Amino acid sequence: METRAVLEPIDWDVVIAGGTLGLLLGLGLRQKGYRVAVVERGRLQGRRQEWNISRSELQVLVNLELLTWGELASVTVTEYNPARIQFHPGQTWWVKDVLNWGVRPDLLLDLVKNKFIRQGGHIGEQQAVNSITIGSNGIAIQAGELNYQSRLLIDMMGHFSPLTRLARRGQIPDGVCLVVGGCAQGFPEHEYGDLLVTTTPIINSCQYFWEAFPAQDGRTTYLFTYVDAHPQRPSLTALCEAYLEHLPAYQGVDLGQLAWQRFLFGFFPSYRRSPLGSHWARILPVGDSSGMQSPLSFGGFGTLLRHLPRLMAGIDAVLREDTLDRQSLSELQPYQPNLSLTWLFQEVMRVPLGRDCPPNFVNEVLSTAFAVMAEAGDAVLKPFLQDVIQLPGLTQTLIGMMRKNPGLIAQVIGHVGMGSLLNWTGHYGMLVLYTWLAQNLPQSSLHSVQSRRFEQYYYGSGQDYPR
Ligand SMILES: Cc1cc2nc3c(=O)[nH]c(=O)nc-3n(C[C@H](O)[C@H](O)[C@H](O)COP(=O)(O)OP(=O)(O)OC[C@H]3O[C@@H](n4cnc5c(N)ncnc54)[C@H](O)[C@@H]3O)c2cc1C
Repeated sequence: METRAVLEPIDWDVVIAGGTLGLLLGLGLRQKGYRVAVVERGRLQGRRQEWNISRSELQVLVNLELLTWGELASVTVTEYNPARIQFHPGQTWWVKDVLNWGVRPDLLLDLVKNKFIRQGGHIGEQQAVNSITIGSNGIAIQAGELNYQSRLLIDMMGHFSPLTRLARRGQIPDGVCLVVGGCAQGFPEHEYGDLLVTTTPIINSCQYFWEAFPAQDGRTTYLFTYVDAHPQRPSLTALCEAYLEHLPAYQGVDLGQLAWQRFLFGFFPSYRRSPLGSHWARILPVGDSSGMQSPLSFGGFGTLLRHLPRLMAGIDAVLREDTLDRQSLSELQPYQPNLSLTWLFQEVMRVPLGRDCPPNFVNEVLSTAFAVMAEAGDAVLKPFLQDVIQLPGLTQTLIGMMRKNPGLIAQVIGHVGMGSLLNWTGHYGMLVLYTWLAQNLPQSSLHSVQSRRFEQYYYGSGQDYPR
């Protein structure tokens, strides 16, 4: 793939492979004056099923002048409050303004696509990237019948990007989140949504979690579970059967009352070695392909929005400085202790096959953790629910859990094992260091494009979370 050949002519500054979230980045770079092409294997259209997001997370699109609030309002089809958190068999907590806006991806992408084209961006639809050659001055991309020669390729081909698979050398995922769900009409009317609800103990070595959101076409409900990649884990079909079996008790409805609009399913692989970083000169993974999102959630849209200002500034800088080598690009997807720390949480919620685990172990851990976070208030609870781990909130929660239920902490250590605990302790130490660095290095340098290291500390310790 890498040669010393000189490619002539270089027609593009940036080619983005993959057009879901790729379009948003494409529009941003086009607005900075770069020659940008977006290449997509299928039709460039989002799905109808809403992405749930918090209003505060969308603010970034307005700040970057990509969209106005008026345009965002035109693609936001639902808004609800409050959202529920509840663990079997116990307590309930309510939060407001978290994942309570439903944005229709098809409307959003249509809006962004039209803006991008109006501003001179190029789109190659139904052209799958199938060959790449890195030369000394650029990168040649063959996509279906089209050929592009660009300075930079941004890989936004999602979790199953061929480049990601190559970079990970076929590694089996360390964890998988399996999701099934659907949107239907006929549920009892509820103003609220569910962020995290369990209604059962562990079944078949799986703890089932529920999410529910009021949707434009009815109500969306998801059942998801965290597992390893063992072949004996349930298939998506088996999980769909579990979804239909437990949905009536969860929502208080008979299946016969429901008019289904659509079914949804997917699986999200996650790797401890994340974010992936850059493996080649002139290729930068962004979005799901980069492994930047939390192993706990499937909120990849939210993750991209969180990192968009940093990525836009960083990509602008490497293009202007012409530093498109592997090392410089890797600095745009750096190690983040607050992301690595969440691995242990996934391990706690996963039940190893064949392991004798108390049936309500996961429910008890989560009930204790959320009781402590809720007592600490929104400043601790809300960042966690939006996939941002911060040192004060994490430390307060751990101390609170130890006080509330010391025996449970011993069980957690037994469940995850000493190896994982030591690994986690290392990342916790890095979170302490990153927090200190982000708070003590001169503020002026934190947002400077020349200071990507500082941004690494800033984002890696969750200081970017809006106060
Ligand atoms: C059921 C479900 C519910 C979700 N709900 C939410 C939510 O509520 N909130 C939220 O923030 N996120 C949500 N997500 C996650 C969100 O959809 C993803 O994180 C987001 O779509 C990732 O965008 P991406 O562009 O990185 O990757 P993808 O969406 O996977 O897009 C990759 C694109 O690359 C294209 N491609 C692949 N290979 C090639 C190739 N060789 N050449 C050219 N193009 C190629 C694909 O066709 C695709 O269009 C949900 C996901 C699912 C499955």
